[in-house]
Amino acid sequence: MGSGIGSRRTLGSRVGKGYGAWSVNREGCRVEGDKWVLGSGMGRRIWEAGGLQGLGWGAVYGVWDEDRDRGWGWGWGWGWGWGAPGAGLGPASPSSLLPAVLQTYIGNVVISVNPYQALPIYTPEKVEEYHNCSFFAVKPHIYAIADDAYRSLRDRDRDQCILITGESGAGKTEASKLVMSYVAAVSSKGEEVNKVKEQLLQSNPVLEAFGNAKTVRNDNSSRFGKYMDIEFDFKGDPLGGVISNYLLEKSRIVRQVKGERNFHIFYQLLAGASPQLLRRSRPTVWGIWRWNRSWGGIMAEVIIGFSPAEVTELLQVTAVVLKLGNVQLSSSFQASGMEACKLREICELIGLDPSTLEKALCTRTVKARDETVLTTLTVPQGYYGRDALAKNIYSRLFDWLVNRINASIQVKSDERRKAMGVLDIYGFEIFQDNGFEQFIINYCNEKLQQIFILMTLKEEQEEYVREGIQWTPVEFFDNSIICNLIENSTSGILAMLDEECLRPGVVNEDTFLTKLNQLLANHKHYESKETQNARRITDSSLPERCFRIHHYAGKVTYNVTGFIEKNNDLLFRDLSQAMWAARHALLRSLFPEGDPQKVSLKLPPTAGFQFKSSVAMLMKNLYSKNPNYIRCIKPNDTKSAMAFAPELVLAQARYLGLMENVRVRRAGYAFRQLYGPFLQRYKMLSRRTWPRWDGEDREGAEVLMAGLAFPAEELAFGHTKIFIRSPRTLFDLERQRQE
Ligand code: ATP
Ligand code: MG
Repeated sequence: MGSGIGSRRTLGSRVGKGYGAWSVNREGCRVEGDKWVLGSGMGRRIWEAGGLQGLGWGAVYGVWDEDRDRGWGWGWGWGWGWGAPGAGLGPASPSSLLPAVLQTYIGNVVISVNPYQALPIYTPEKVEEYHNCSFFAVKPHIYAIADDAYRSLRDRDRDQCILITGESGAGKTEASKLVMSYVAAVSSKGEEVNKVKEQLLQSNPVLEAFGNAKTVRNDNSSRFGKYMDIEFDFKGDPLGGVISNYLLEKSRIVRQVKGERNFHIFYQLLAGASPQLLRRSRPTVWGIWRWNRSWGGIMAEVIIGFSPAEVTELLQVTAVVLKLGNVQLSSSFQASGMEACKLREICELIGLDPSTLEKALCTRTVKARDETVLTTLTVPQGYYGRDALAKNIYSRLFDWLVNRINASIQVKSDERRKAMGVLDIYGFEIFQDNGFEQFIINYCNEKLQQIFILMTLKEEQEEYVREGIQWTPVEFFDNSIICNLIENSTSGILAMLDEECLRPGVVNEDTFLTKLNQLLANHKHYESKETQNARRITDSSLPERCFRIHHYAGKVTYNVTGFIEKNNDLLFRDLSQAMWAARHALLRSLFPEGDPQKVSLKLPPTAGFQFKSSVAMLMKNLYSKNPNYIRCIKPNDTKSAMAFAPELVLAQARYLGLMENVRVRRAGYAFRQLYGPFLQRYKMLSRRTWPRWDGEDREGAEVLMAGLAFPAEELAFGHTKIFIRSPRTLFDLERQRQE
């Protein structure tokens, strides 16, 4: 419990263990009588003093004696702080009570803590409250950023993107849905527009059915990255959208960590599909059990405009994946009895001769010069092929689904459009064991951090320089060196992995690691047992067969096991040819390379290469837009409301780069605008500039502001823009304008 007696603005404040602080604003207090101010308030504050910084939440109840200009307050709260490197990091003593405010800002970046409970702050009344409100005049909220972005797009014709980041379970997907529903609520409501909005919103449950799963960290974890451009006409009405998906975690199809599940759709299928579709299905092999929830298929049919036949086909292919998991192979695999029955079921669904599938699962055709040799697969090879087939069918089906939804929601007219992109993508991952997936995901986060640095920090500073404004540079860590370490087209880790995958002869992860060690021996951000030995470093925390990257967010040790196989992502040609031979139109269309007429000797692009290209495209897209950020924070590891784990939150504050953000924002100007539009908007506030100003715009702005007597340090006049330090000054201008 903290107690607070405060200054006029602050009723309660407390420094915890010398590291952190929380304090509570008086704003929002009730006023009773004209003498005493009695109130309760909740607040959050990012605080800096004496080289220490803190981020805190608190709630306070207090009285204020206006006469004596003194007050008493009782407060409680939680905060944490950090200081200069070496000064030590640590949480302030947490109180037994939860932080009462779960959303705050750093500049215009929203920090949102997952409340793990339904709060009454997403109601239609709240939408109304935030609609057309001044960003800093209302309490921090995801709606405020959605409103700000939407208005910039509509009124200032600037394409926007909203980047939502945070670790698994932090609330990214929920935040992205809140943004979408806010935009839907505040844009106009004609019949056509409503239909588009419905379609955009309802694409979520369908994609979640196929792309989300229960994990240890999140009961509804998105196992793919998603970027959605919502497109608007000149009036700001939604016209449609385009969805891009990134790296579906397809390994989940065949394997899940203890306590986790497969993708939701399988359980939904079992709970809701017709008996014909499920006939004799005994899905036990991949740990699938009944899960009673309505399934996305209904939604797809009604709103997204799938035909009933399409939904049936979609679910049939999903059932094939399910049933493939039941097929057992043995050294004498001859489809008889039980296994024949399972194969027949699959083949009935997809219109294929069972012997074709049996042959493709058990043998492999190898072409050597003019000869074709048929080899029988060992049992592990057979399972490998079966699993690869299931993973491939499912991930291709997911791509098909995204494309199909896009076909429904795409804008049909060719009128000029504005776009708002919403990115909901996996946050930085550091697990006990990190493999290829974590490597790829963390690479993506490294790129997002780079774009964040480029767009927020660097541009901010460069603008001051460009505008000739006095500015003390803020030191920040430029992570391009790490991006380069991973993505450089000749010496990057991904390029070396590709080279290893394509090299004829014996390739395995050891040769890959050796190569990395040779080429990156002196790289500051790369480490392995071998490079440590060479530098005589004894470090038991870095095992063999691993390399470690010093990411912007921390050091991550990756085990190379599985890198080659996952990057190659090969499917035996016999299997793709068997799938192509099926009469099932959808399944067949997923395996175009199975067409014997189109046999290509060229290997398909590797998983790493594909991911790198799609990330590059994403970055280009984001870079062309005005960025808005929502940083999601997970308060605890137990998915519980009313629990706050300080160390966990502190680590996230670090991964999310909040400190750099705070430093830049504290040093800079909150608002800037070109002289022309600025003068136009506020010239009515001075007799000298109203009704018209004949001189230069800059001079006009100077004359205007001189008459308004703001403190000198509040303003700076650049070459083309006026800069205003605190939002308060801007509100003041707005208020005077309204009056
Ligand atoms: P992942 O990376 O695993 O997909 P995520 O960041 O997308 O995680 P969400 O699925 O958005 O996380 O949130 C996890 C859960 O937390 C939700 O299912 C919901 O129960 C709860 N939650 C998140 N945000 C909110 C919110 N604003 N209000 C209430 N509950 C929330
Ligand atoms: Mg999610």
